[in-house]
Amino acid sequence: MSDTQAKLYIVASPIGNLADITFRAVEVLKQCAVIAAEDTRQTRLMLGHYSINTPMVALHEHNEADTVAGLIKRIGAGDSIALVSDAGTPLINDPGFRLVREASNSGFAVVPVPGPCALIAALSTSSLPTDRFSFVGFPPRTQTARKAFFSALMSTKGTLIFYESCHRVLASLSDLAAVFEPERELVIARELTKVHETIVKTTVAGAPNLVVDTPYMQKGEFVILVHGAKPANVEQMLEPEQERLLKFVLQECSLKTAVSIVTKYTGLSKKLVYNAALRIEKS
Ligand code: SAM
Repeated sequence: MSDTQAKLYIVASPIGNLADITFRAVEVLKQCAVIAAEDTRQTRLMLGHYSINTPMVALHEHNEADTVAGLIKRIGAGDSIALVSDAGTPLINDPGFRLVREASNSGFAVVPVPGPCALIAALSTSSLPTDRFSFVGFPPRTQTARKAFFSALMSTKGTLIFYESCHRVLASLSDLAAVFEPERELVIARELTKVHETIVKTTVAGAPNLVVDTPYMQKGEFVILVHGAKPANVEQMLEPEQERLLKFVLQECSLKTAVSIVTKYTGLSKKLVYNAALRIEKS
């Protein structure tokens, strides 16, 4: 792919199982002029598996600032470039942001070649709500920062998703348990698409013990998912008609009697009518 319409392709690669690559990804990787790879040694192994011989350049967090300008020049000169990371979707906790930003700002097409992504694989199999979620990357490495990090996420609605390494998974789950409600559902998804894939549902309180009691749960790569915060108790309101009735009855008798009459008449819960009566009396 060397033409005036040169593009930057963002190519997802397997997160374990090498069969998880798309036909299109292989085509693009074969045809582009150069592959920008997070770790060229790692990517060479993957490329070998699919018989791809395209030249590579390294693009990692330590050289991204210096390397991007050269890559943008190459696209300008007509070379299409494919960006891959060690595993999964580039830019998702992986390098590439500067390159995409520069390419986009320079007016070049940035083309997704979608495929595996650990957080999406975990979410879609977790049985936790998928309609709304927050992905927060890796928690900080120190306990104080980690607890503050989790505290700030306590009232987040939607499923909370984070990545963790085997070295810190127990520490992270313990710090989470010190902060979050104990009964919240939590899913540990490890080694996805690999031989020892494990997807296990527990609770925030149960997670640290589960990891301690199961030796293999301290090995491999992890995605942790936590059920979102329950919606804050929205004060239930009476219908306007019911409210008018309650106001009227309150003018004629005591709060206790008014609550009793309106509860019987409307079939509403006593607690709801009582709270509404208190509110009306205070107003
Ligand atoms: N770009 C990748 C993606 O699309 O998911 C993520 C890269 S991030 C540097 C690596 C982290 O992703 C791991 O430490 C782990 O938390 C998670 N991860 C990657 N592969 C995984 C797998 N097969 N099973 C579970 N978690 C995985």
